[in-house]
Amino acid sequence: MEDRSYAKKVAVIGMGNVGSAFAYALMLRRLATDIVLLDLDQRRAEGEALDLKHGLPLVGPMNVYAGAYADCADADLVVVTAGANQKPGQTRLELLKQNAGIAADVVRRVLAAGGRPVFLMTTNPVDVLTRVALDVAVPLGLPAGRVFGSGTVLDSSRFRHLISRTIGADPRGVHASVLGEHGDSEVCVWSRANVSGIPLAEVMRLRGLDLDAAFMEQMALDVRRAAYTIIDRKGYTATAIGVALCRIVEAVLGDQKSILTVSTDAEGRYGLPRVCLSLPCLVGAEGVEGVIDAPLEPEEEAALKKSGDVLFESAKGLL
Ligand code: NAD
Repeated sequence: MEDRSYAKKVAVIGMGNVGSAFAYALMLRRLATDIVLLDLDQRRAEGEALDLKHGLPLVGPMNVYAGAYADCADADLVVVTAGANQKPGQTRLELLKQNAGIAADVVRRVLAAGGRPVFLMTTNPVDVLTRVALDVAVPLGLPAGRVFGSGTVLDSSRFRHLISRTIGADPRGVHASVLGEHGDSEVCVWSRANVSGIPLAEVMRLRGLDLDAAFMEQMALDVRRAAYTIIDRKGYTATAIGVALCRIVEAVLGDQKSILTVSTDAEGRYGLPRVCLSLPCLVGAEGVEGVIDAPLEPEEEAALKKSGDVLFESAKGLL
C-alpha cells in the first residue's frame, strides 16, 4: 500500500470569494499535499479545482479536486467559508441567523462522514459561528481546541500594516494585536504594541511622532473600518483573509505552537460570558492548545469585556 503518512489534507467548504482566494494561496504556499473543495454549487467547486490544477505544473505536485463530505473523513483541517457574503452597509452581526444554520450543518456532516479534523471557521459573524460550531462538535466528541475561528488574525495584520506604514518600518517586525470580536467592538491592544521588542511609543518618539489619544483613536477606527472600506470599493474582501488563513493553517499543519489571535472559547477569562472571541492563543496540531491571557491595561480589559457582552447579546437572537 502507498505510504501516505506524510500527507496533509485540507478541505475548503465554500468556494466563493474567500474560499477560492484561500485555496489559491494554499496552493502557492504548498502547505498541503491534498486540497479538496466543496460548495453547495458543485459546478463552482469543480471549476475552481480545474482552474487551480492547471497551475500545478508550475507550482509542484498536489492533489487538488472538487469533492463531497465523504472526502473530509481523512482531512487534517477543514476551513469553513460557506455562507452569505457581507453586503455593503450590512453589519457582520446581521448575517448571524443565515450563517449559523450553515455552520452547524457543515460541522455535523464532516463529523458524520467520520472526520476528526481541526475546524477553522471563517464565515461571519465568525465569533458567533465558532461558538455554534463548538456547540455542535464538542457533544459529538471533538476536543474543544479543535474548533476555532480565524478571529482577528486579519485585523491584527491590518493593525500591524498601519503601524508599519506610519513608522516606515518592515511590518514583520511590528508586533501588535487586536483582541475581542472580529467586528465593530474589537480592541486594539496598544499597551503591548512593539517593534522588534522596542515599545511602540518609544519607536514613534524617535521618529518624531506622538502615540497620543487622537492618533490611537484614528488608527483603531481605520482598522475597524478596513473591511467596510474594501467592500465599498470591490464588493468583498478575500485576498488578505486568504493569506491570514494560510498563516493559521501553517501553524496547525506544522504544529508550530504559534501565538495567534484566533477566536476561541473565552468563557470565564477576563470575566467574559459564554462567547468565543479572539485572545492570543497557542496554535498547533491540536488546534488551540492554550490561551495566553496575560494582564491587560484596565481600559483594554474593560473594552474586551464590552466586546464579549456585544457578542453574547448578538448570539441571543439564535435561541
Ligand atoms: P461568497 O458568497 O462569495 O461565497 C460563499 C460560498 O458559500 C458560495 O460559493 C456558496 O455557494 C457557498 N455556500 C453557501 N451555503 C453553503 C453550504 N451549505 N455548503 C457549502 N457551500 C455553501 O462569500 P465570500 O465572499 O466568499 O465570503 C464568505 C464568508 O466569509 C462570509 O460570511 C464573509 O463575511 C466571510 N469573511 C470572513 C472574513 C474573516 O476575517 N473572518 C473575511 C472576509 C470574509
